[in-house]
Amino acid sequence: LEARMQQAQRLESLGQLAGGIAHDFNNLLAVILNYAAFIIEDAAGSAPAADAEQIARAARRGSDLTHQLLAFARREVIRPRPLDLNTVVTEVHQMLERSLGEHITLTVRTTAALPAVMADPGQLEQVLVNLAVNARDAMPTGGRLTIDTAEVRVDEEHSAARAGLSPGRYLRLRISDTGTGMPKEVIDKAFEPFFTTKPSGQGTGLGLATVYGIVTQAGGTVQIYSEPGIGTTFTILLPVTDVRAQEAAVEESVAGLAGH
Ligand code: ADP
Repeated sequence: LEARMQQAQRLESLGQLAGGIAHDFNNLLAVILNYAAFIIEDAAGSAPAADAEQIARAARRGSDLTHQLLAFARREVIRPRPLDLNTVVTEVHQMLERSLGEHITLTVRTTAALPAVMADPGQLEQVLVNLAVNARDAMPTGGRLTIDTAEVRVDEEHSAARAGLSPGRYLRLRISDTGTGMPKEVIDKAFEPFFTTKPSGQGTGLGLATVYGIVTQAGGTVQIYSEPGIGTTFTILLPVTDVRAQEAAVEESVAGLAGH
């Protein structure tokens, strides 16, 4: 648990650092893009214009990268609320259906009437999208992507295996692909910010670090099971929130206020 807390704190400070740099860098890139645009305009059709186009193109690539960094480090207000995981999965399903392409078969299996989890809906969407994008990248010639939800119970025995997750009720979200799989060295580093095996310009190494940050912040865990040549499964556990206990707490404080 200690190690996990340290990891979370390290990610948090890295996130702040990355966010600060990305913000300043983005401003610099905007200046470069503006001046490149002036040159292109003044020197229309000549050699300097072509050179300036190259500058503008590089600056635009840099700008895309900084936007991804900013998304990772987002200091947006997070609003956790009791949430139906199936609703989030269904919404993302429709979006993924359009963006995954025909050669990937997407199957979504939700277990009906799940209890609520405490999370920010936008953040959970982000988790699903990041994992789906990775799955797509791991299946360049096609394959199957399966997303399923269920309620599971973590008992004492599981709890030890789950890096100290306390026993109780959890929702399980699984994302499985039939892609390239990940060798052990990759699994070991996969959640580290900026770790990527993708060619430069295609991967930032921030997708899984973001997933890790969101899931641990919500009190959950994320585990990777992968076999090279067979595929990869990401298993996320999120604690079930006791909505009734929360309502009771609110009623109590309202009653307390009324009494004054
Ligand atoms: P990025 O996708 O930008 O490389 P991520 O943090 O999302 O960054 O992923 C880190 C690395 O983990 C990837 O470069 C890839 O090697 C590996 N990886 C992640 N998801 C999968 C997957 N579903 N199948 C195979 N490898 C994966």
